[in-house]
Amino acid sequence: MKPSPFTYHDPHSLDEALALLNQYGEEARIIAGGQSLVAMMNLRLAQPDHLIDINNIPVLNGIECQDRLLQIGALTSHQDILQSELVRQSCPILTNAAAHIGHYAIRQRGTIGGSLSHADPAAEWPMIAILLDGEMEIAQLSGEKRTLGARDFIQSIYTTDLAPEEILTKISFPCLEENEGWAFKPFARRRGDYFIVAVAACLTLDQSGRIKRLRLCLGGMEATAIRLDEIEQGSIAHLPDENWIREVAKAACNEGNPVDDHNADVEYRRELVEILVTDALQDAFKGTQRG
Ligand SMILES: Cc1cc2nc3c(=O)[nH]c(=O)nc-3n(C[C@H](O)[C@H](O)[C@H](O)COP(=O)(O)OP(=O)(O)OC[C@H]3O[C@@H](n4cnc5c(N)ncnc54)[C@H](O)[C@@H]3O)c2cc1C
Repeated sequence: MKPSPFTYHDPHSLDEALALLNQYGEEARIIAGGQSLVAMMNLRLAQPDHLIDINNIPVLNGIECQDRLLQIGALTSHQDILQSELVRQSCPILTNAAAHIGHYAIRQRGTIGGSLSHADPAAEWPMIAILLDGEMEIAQLSGEKRTLGARDFIQSIYTTDLAPEEILTKISFPCLEENEGWAFKPFARRRGDYFIVAVAACLTLDQSGRIKRLRLCLGGMEATAIRLDEIEQGSIAHLPDENWIREVAKAACNEGNPVDDHNADVEYRRELVEILVTDALQDAFKGTQRG
């Protein structure tokens, strides 16, 4: 399959790219890694008249950490995140999640901003952004920027709050606390496939060993990843023992309105959640005991 004809643009600054987006509006699409967009164009699911390549805008690329906030440029590749020592030190759940994205070639080209803008419900970055309450920085032609939390940015399957003339420029994640336990548990039939169901958890304990904060997120159940707010709140001050893990896993598997598709039916997805939550909380608890 071949894409329908388009005009290619190669801006060298953010302002230039924003001006092109403003000029061509809904007829234009940004291309970052092209790992999702090119497939959609070849299948004629996307037929942009103008393709705006953001790969020559260096300001969109890079990883830094300031005031315990990890800031990742939208154009940063999955592989660069996977290999970053800064990420591994400050937010290791990102390193682990990056390792599960597709295969080496896809990780080399695909970008975190492209993944978040594409908003596939079975993709790693949208789920991790929702787990960690990541913040999206969005640039507009006026020179203004707006910032949105992940839960507001990702609205539904392949749907975000981005307007056609906006560019996602940066994603910020709070660094994990010292001794914060974490786990990311995707289930896929083959290594490198999109997950069918995934569970991600972060756990911190207070000095008496009781739960100070739990963050728990399910992916692959609904159109977007879901945070289990009630379970998180209800877990505060609990002892993180096997009973608690069992109760949380039982409660989590009844959450949400799971999709029923060719990958898995509702019952199978719920069974997976129970198993993966158990596994994730056991690992997260072990992580709190390190050091
Ligand atoms: C075989 C295969 C297997 C894969 N497996 C996985 C997997 O297991 N897990 C996973 O998470 N992903 C997987 N992917 C997807 C991959 O991670 C893509 O890289 C990602 O979804 C899109 O990123 P991209 O940079 O390639 O974006 P592109 O394909 O270039 O763009 C995707 C969309 O985002 C828009 N966009 C891109 N950047 C921006 C920006 N900065 N601001 C505004 N809009 C923007 C584009 O206009 C387009 O609509 C797989 C892809 C393939 C081909």
